[in-house]
Amino acid sequence: MDRPLSSPIFIFHGNFNMHIGCHLSTSGGYVAMGNTALKLGADTLQFFTRNPRGGDGRIPSDEEISSLVQIMREHSFAPAVAHASYTLNICSATPATREFAKRTMRSDLELLNRFPAGTVVYNFHPGSHTGQGIEEGIRLIVEGLNEVLTEEIHTPVLLETMSGKGSEVGGRFEELAEIIAGVRLQEKMGVCLDTCHIFSAGYDLVNSPEDVLAEFDRIIGLNRLHAVHLNDSMTPFSSKKDRHEKLGAGSLGFEALWNFARLDAVRELPLVLETPNELDGYAAEIARMRAGL
Ligand code: FE
Ligand code: FE
Ligand code: ZN
Repeated sequence: MDRPLSSPIFIFHGNFNMHIGCHLSTSGGYVAMGNTALKLGADTLQFFTRNPRGGDGRIPSDEEISSLVQIMREHSFAPAVAHASYTLNICSATPATREFAKRTMRSDLELLNRFPAGTVVYNFHPGSHTGQGIEEGIRLIVEGLNEVLTEEIHTPVLLETMSGKGSEVGGRFEELAEIIAGVRLQEKMGVCLDTCHIFSAGYDLVNSPEDVLAEFDRIIGLNRLHAVHLNDSMTPFSSKKDRHEKLGAGSLGFEALWNFARLDAVRELPLVLETPNELDGYAAEIARMRAGL
């Protein structure tokens, strides 16, 4: 699966196409969302596939989807990130909660199959084992994905790296690797790396970003890395908390995030801001990341 929509044209003397955007609301429709991204200086974007509580949300028409894709192509966007509702829990101890997650993911992936291949990826939180233990959590996630994934799906399905708070699964690279290893249609699977989450989980992006990526490569494989959530963190290193901060205002700091975004394995990926900002704040962060100041 090709990651960029169009091949980057400026790879020389250390230059590259940084693809950066932010989480946007679908409330005005997909076309308005694409235009907002352009206004912010973004060339990727993220949106919820349905309202965050997991309700149905508005179903976009094929025309809306193709208009958004046209905007993305005209402006050489990296693939968009469709984020599953974060209230889904495919490894809950409650069967009805697991069924709801599977049903919702199936319908999300049906929607995303109406996008051309290579224009969107699907990201979800692995879930919380709710006291059943990490191994049972992983087993249920694998079982769920094996029920949800079909040959027909052409959207990469990404597990998000988590901070490891409470009974959350996905705070260690090993856990994500174990999930992927259990999935039958493994070629559909990838990972979205959240900088705030992994720093909170105990991966030191400030002092040894290259070592963190080397570890990611050894355990999961960098070929699985399809997207990055670029967030600073309100809480200290290894706090096992999940509190996003504006770039440069948190424990990671701007320089660490900027350096990380420029590493080979990361720099052509969609970088998505999920920082506590209004649109003007996002525009400023996007500009600052592009300028490196
Ligand atoms: Fe997320
Ligand atoms: Fe995230
Ligand atoms: Zn988070």
